[in-house]
Parts: sequence; C-alpha cells; structure tokens
Amino acid sequence: MTEAVTEPRVSGSLVRGSLRLPGRLRAPQPGWTAQADVIVVGSGIAGLTTALRLRQRVDRVLLVTKTVLSEGSTLWAQGGIAAALDPADSPEEHLHDTLVAGVGICDVDAVRALVTEGPRRVRELIALGAEFDTDEDGEIRLTREGGHHRDRIAHAGGDATGREISRALIAALHRVQDDPGIEVVEHALVVDLLLDAAGRACGVTLHVIGEGQRDGVGAARARAVVLATGGIGQVYAATTNPSVATGDGLAAALRAGAVVADLEFVQFHPTVLWLGPGSSGQQPLISEAVRGEGAFLVDRDGVRFMQGRHPLADLAPRDVVSRAIVERMRDTGEDHVHLDARHLGREFLEKRFPSIVARCRELGFDPATELLPVAPAQHYASGGVRTDLRGRTSVEGLYACGEVSCTGVHGANRLASNSLLEGLVFAHRIADDIAARLAAGAQPRWATLAVAAWMTCLVADSDARGRALALEDPLADRLTAAVDGASDPAVVVDRLLGVREVFDEELASSEVFRAMLAEDVARLSAGLVAP
Ligand SMILES: Cc1cc2nc3c(=O)[nH]c(=O)nc-3n(C[C@H](O)[C@H](O)[C@H](O)COP(=O)(O)OP(=O)(O)OC[C@H]3O[C@@H](n4cnc5c(N)ncnc54)[C@H](O)[C@@H]3O)c2cc1C
Repeated sequence: MTEAVTEPRVSGSLVRGSLRLPGRLRAPQPGWTAQADVIVVGSGIAGLTTALRLRQRVDRVLLVTKTVLSEGSTLWAQGGIAAALDPADSPEEHLHDTLVAGVGICDVDAVRALVTEGPRRVRELIALGAEFDTDEDGEIRLTREGGHHRDRIAHAGGDATGREISRALIAALHRVQDDPGIEVVEHALVVDLLLDAAGRACGVTLHVIGEGQRDGVGAARARAVVLATGGIGQVYAATTNPSVATGDGLAAALRAGAVVADLEFVQFHPTVLWLGPGSSGQQPLISEAVRGEGAFLVDRDGVRFMQGRHPLADLAPRDVVSRAIVERMRDTGEDHVHLDARHLGREFLEKRFPSIVARCRELGFDPATELLPVAPAQHYASGGVRTDLRGRTSVEGLYACGEVSCTGVHGANRLASNSLLEGLVFAHRIADDIAARLAAGAQPRWATLAVAAWMTCLVADSDARGRALALEDPLADRLTAAVDGASDPAVVVDRLLGVREVFDEELASSEVFRAMLAEDVARLSAGLVAP
C-alpha cells in the first residue's frame, strides 16, 4: 500500500515536500449552526447504510448530501453485488479471487472481513426491501463477472442493481423520516472538515442551497464525521461516474491532514460505449455482466483478441482487458474496439439488460443487431482516505466509507462488484464502532471499568487492585461479581458482555465492540499473573 500524508500545518496550509495545499477552502463565515452526534456526508450505499444503522444506536444523526438523495454512483451500478451466496461457493474462494485481482497488495484482513460478512449484509439488504432477481424457485440468481471463478454476482432489475439498492435504502430512510433522531439535508455541499484544538474532527462546514434557517454557509458540529462522498471520476475527461463524483471528500480529508493511500490505482472500465471523439463527462457503461453472459470483444477485423491472452479471456480482470484494448487500438490505429452481443438474441438482451439496451438504442446502437463501439474510461478509485478495519481514518473522529475510502480490500485493482459490497460491509463496521465509542465516552468508560473489575478479582494485592477498587461506580460491583473466578480472557469478555445493565443486547452482539473489549482486556491485563 502506498500512503501519503500532508503535514505539518504551516500557517493554515499543509505542506508535503514542495507541495503546499490550502488548509481549507475559501468560504464565507458560517451564518448558521447545527449539532448532531454523527454527521454522515453522502447518500450512496455507504452513507445511507451508515446513517440507517447509526440511527438505531445514537441519539442524533445528520445526513447531508450534495444534490438529491438518489444522486451518486450507487444509482448507476449495473452488474451487481458480489457475495458468496451460493452453497457451492465460499468466502475463501471470493477472498482468493479478490486477492488475485488486487495483484497481491490487498489488505488480507480487510478482504476477509468483506467476504465473510458480505453474504449476511446482502441478506439484510434484502430483508430491508431490496428486490434482487430470482429464479423460478425463488432463489437469488447469480451471475459471473471478470475475475470471479464462480457465479456470485446478485443483480436486480436485470442491469439496474444500483437503482434498486438506492430505492430500497431511500425507502427505508423515508420510513423513519419523522424520527427526530435523524435529519436529512439535501442540496448541502460539504466544504471542509472542522477540527478541534486537538486536531480531532468535530464537524463540517457546508453550503446549503435551501430555504429558511438552513441556507448559505453553515457549520454543523458532531462527535464523529463519516465521509461517504464517493469517487473522483469527473476529474477525468471520460468517466462512467455521475456529475457529483468530483472527489470532494477526498480533498477535504487531505486538507484536514488525513492519510490517503493508493491514489494511483484508478480503474478503467474496458467496455464504455464510445460516442465519438471529443465526447466527455459521464459516458454509458456496458456492464461486464454482458460479457459474463457470453458477449465478446473483437477488433475491426473481427479478431477475438482476448482469446489466448488470459485464461479467463474476455472475463479477465478489468486491468488486463483494458490494457489489451488499448494495445489493440494502438496496433490498429483506431480509437475503439467492438463488443459483439448479437448472438445472445434480442429477447434475452432485452430481458436481462433492459437499461443498457434502452440506453444504447437511445444513442443509435442496437446490441441485438450490431457491434457496439467500446473503449476504456475512468470508472473507479481503488485508493482513497486510508482507514483501518473499523473505518477510522488517521484523523481522530473522522471515518471514511465506500469509494472515498481505502480500506485495502481492492489493492491495485478492484474485483468487479466488490465496491457495493465494501460500502455495505464497512458501513456496518463504522456504525458499530461509532456507537460503541460514543457509548463508552458518554457513559463511564465501560470497557476499562470492566477490565478493572476483572483485575480486582485476579490480582490479590497490587496497585492495580487499588486503582480498580478506587473506581467509584455502583456497577463496578456488578461487573466484579460477573468475572469472579475467571482467568481465561475469552471467558472474561463473554461474562462481561452478559451484564445487561452495562452492555445492552445490541452492543453485546456487536462483533466490533467484542473485539474492542477483547483488545482492552488483553492490553490492560498484560503482565498480571493470577495469584
Ligand atoms: C456506471 C457505474 C456502474 C457501476 N457498477 C457497479 C457494479 O455493478 N457493482 C459494484 O459493486 N460497483 C459498481 N460501480 C461502483 C459503485 O457503484 C460505487 O463504487 C459505489 O456505488 C460507491 O458508493 P458510495 O456510497 O461510496 O458513493 P456514491 O454512491 O457515489 O455516493 C456519494 C454521495 O456523496 C455525495 N457527495 C459527494 N460530495 C459531496 C459533498 N461535498 N457534500 C455532500 N455530499 C457529497 C454525492 O452526492 C452522493 O450522494 C459502478 C459505478 C458506476 C459509475
């Protein structure tokens, strides 16, 4: 992983080598303020999932988004979401394919979290209301995309997966719209992060184009900020990304001094409809799933140039296919190659890929009867704001989720359909971590208190015991009783999490919180030997 950090701050600027970045963008002084426990910036799969999950756990969530809730790359996702849902498939195989696509520089622990938690998260999404395509027996239909050795891509509406996911998440948000615990502000462009004197993220400045109190530049304060602002596609001449993908969150994080990583790993999608020289901005994508169903690439002479180039031929990882296309274009002197889907038949194409076929026809191409001109275009930023497995960035209180983040799951090259899954899985992790942290900060430090209680039982006579007993909290006795007689740290964690007065059901079942408590138990008890 390649990391970059901008520091130190010099009179409001950030310095890296000879590069000087502004510490913040020029903007008028805030004319209004707002307060929340957590601010979530962005309303794609990452932001919406984080906000919905947080809402059940903290008192007040503020979700802000640049235009309207549905706008973002999530809406445009076609192919689907990858997860080992087929009993014949396994997270291990998904892990293997992801590592191969990532060219050996993925963070293996992050990938493991992605592939093992993924199937459960997709099922939860279905329970929330997302309708994926199913077969005659009601089982989710799974297809294959580049780099996958199994059918593991769940899709919706044929080729409108992102639209369905976005619809389901927004519907879930609307169902809780009257809840005072969550506020949504559309047309709210986040300008910069606010940092406190200790350098912790404590809010954002934002420009709202609205009415009444929330109009113009304001400042919203919170105890944690989650950036879920998506990708950077509009920085490039041709991209599959929508107009909101301008890298705002990444830039704001950089200005705040956050570590970013792997920015050089930008994925180009091999099959973007070629609309002629000079066409720029968002271009129509021809999903990899079309090749997954049997379409193939040919050059102007009809040569299937992917054959023999890679064992997966037309379904090789995207970087391999994009590179092969660019080479073929260079060799033939043309600015595009062709995708042949004619043999799939009109009926199948219209049923399986209704949006793609309709868009192609709008633009004057019929995939059922003619070759489609295609060329690679910018598609996905594999790097971003560096996070750990809980979504924490290097700036205390700042989290990053989805395409703006670099969790390490994609390495040098994202495996197809892993990005929706990443947003989903890490949104849950982030929400759990924030809920646990806020609970620990707002209440006594339960984890520390719990471990101290254990120590009082374990250590016969020491300063530690004295310190532990000095914790004047009525629940210390309850915790002490729970762990009395235990010596195995794993048993201690189990027993502590069973104390309902301290850890409610939800907190106790959070894997992230369990890991945090286990860490504390290990750290605080290190060196202590039972008498
Ligand atoms: C055409 C296309 C097809 C794709 N197909 C697939 C696929 O089949 N499978 C797959 O897994 N992935 C696919 N991807 C990638 C995937 O869609 C994205 O990586 C994923 O949706 C990103 O989700 P996100 O929540 O991180 O960001 P987004 O969905 O892009 O949401 C970002 C949000 O942040 C908001 N925002 C941005 N800046 C600001 C700001 N300054 N202030 C306030 N709000 C801001 C935006 O308005 C938006 O609401 C595809 C992408 C594209 C473009």
